[in-house]
Amino acid sequence: MTASLPSTSAPLAPFLPFSKPTIDEDTIAMVGEVLRSGWLTNGGPKVSLFEQQLSTYFGGRPVRCFNSGTCTMEIALRIAGIGPGDEVITTPISWVATANVILEVGATPVFADIDPVTRNIDLDKLEAAITPRTRAIIPVYLAGLPVDMDRLYAIAAKHGLRVVEDAAQAFGSTWNGQRIGAIGDMVSFSFQVNKNLTTGEGGCLVLNTQEEAVLAEKYRLQGVTRSGVDGIDVDVLGGKYNMTDIAAAIGLGQMKTIDAVTAHRESLAHHYFDCFGPDFEARTGARLPLPAFGTSNWHLFQIILPDTGPTARADFMRRLKDEHNVGSGFHYAAIHLFTMYRKLGFHEGMFPESERIGRLTVTLPLFYAMSSADVERVVGAVNAVLSTKLSTAVPAK
Ligand SMILES: *Cc1c(COP(=O)(O)O)cnc(C)c1O
Repeated sequence: MTASLPSTSAPLAPFLPFSKPTIDEDTIAMVGEVLRSGWLTNGGPKVSLFEQQLSTYFGGRPVRCFNSGTCTMEIALRIAGIGPGDEVITTPISWVATANVILEVGATPVFADIDPVTRNIDLDKLEAAITPRTRAIIPVYLAGLPVDMDRLYAIAAKHGLRVVEDAAQAFGSTWNGQRIGAIGDMVSFSFQVNKNLTTGEGGCLVLNTQEEAVLAEKYRLQGVTRSGVDGIDVDVLGGKYNMTDIAAAIGLGQMKTIDAVTAHRESLAHHYFDCFGPDFEARTGARLPLPAFGTSNWHLFQIILPDTGPTARADFMRRLKDEHNVGSGFHYAAIHLFTMYRKLGFHEGMFPESERIGRLTVTLPLFYAMSSADVERVVGAVNAVLSTKLSTAVPAK
């Protein structure tokens, strides 16, 4: 036992991270096959097979894969013809990539505050933020919870806007029984390591037409079009965004278990609600997520801490780790308060719900390899930490 622990405490259970990928032996064997084949990347058989399976999963729509969810969204904006002078509306509560890609294509990010219950973009505020220069919307399905898709697409149709769905966290989520990705305009997924389906790094874009798919292929590899034996031309500015066959092999392995993964995450989320109990919010002042069963893929299980001051979350996260060996995360800090966005004119007070939740949201462990007992351990730890007031100052280490 280390000296920093209270002498009365039992030995800590092994560290429980907030997220951990599960890669099965079949997948590892398939990656080995790719490595032995000599065809590691570009134009290899695994990427096209993965794209075919994804297309089937998304109701036959065209799908193209890339090397990140970030470039997937950037390419979607380019396909939509978004550029300088155009405004794109999104939420301040997302991974910063969502807003960065708007700047990458030279357009202007416009934020609309979140709904504190769903923690997703507030569609009333989104509609109020539309100007004659608005060209597109990027809704984010935080933690795997979609926005009201009927309302979203009614707004888009009314104002003639493209939608690039940041469904990075929503692989396997549904809206009225239909898969996210099987409906909608352009839908972007990430296969980054923490996501429900991972390729290590990667992403895919669900498109509307073959023409868009051809454009996506150009943007992902230097704008190149090949023809005949040695024909090559470049007619748009593309980048280096292709997925490797190594990554696609991991994705093909993950596709086999995705339904089981989604079901297990849902059962763990159910167990969280059961263990926290109906009095949790009244007892602790913290807030549970919306119990969106049958819709969310439960990518993240996030609670909102009681607002006891500027260090409430740091104190909570540190004590969860130091006293219980339980990891946690925060998804996300409000984007508009980052220095680069402040330099663009954004400041405190513009999006109060995002600012509050950006300070107080905590992501608890939830991943496929977790057991019900792990959930019980996390709930015990959260209850213990919240039963004493969170300190308002960070003690010196
Ligand atoms: C993961 C994620 C991204 C970015 O995906 P990368 O694959 O890491 O580039 C974008 N938006 C959200 C909401 C995400 O969770």
